[in-house]
Amino acid sequence: MTNYTCYKCKKEYGSDEIRLNADRKLVCVYCLGTKKHAEVKEPKIDKIEETIEYVCNNCHYLFKRKASVLFMHCPYCGQEGKIIAKKNMDSDMILSDSMDAKYSY
Ligand SMILES: [Zn+2]
Ligand SMILES: [Zn+2]
Repeated sequence: MTNYTCYKCKKEYGSDEIRLNADRKLVCVYCLGTKKHAEVKEPKIDKIEETIEYVCNNCHYLFKRKASVLFMHCPYCGQEGKIIAKKNMDSDMILSDSMDAKYSY
């Protein structure tokens, strides 16, 4: 492998990391700035994301998820559509109970 010496930092690089600049000088991609370290700062989320407690109505597995995370399946038993947010559990339980209730006359 041929090594090229960057005229700026005087370090040797392979041909894939060396470029010719406008002055036809060998310059490494790092000095050239094409491979800058990505310093994209993620916007700081200052609000603490709400964590909701869920319970699976099938296996009664209790777990927590961030409020923004959407999911359909119980992580434990994989049952779909049986996840109940715990803080709403009472009303949901009543609701599902009344829906499941079989009225026999
Ligand atoms: Zn260099
Ligand atoms: Zn489950």
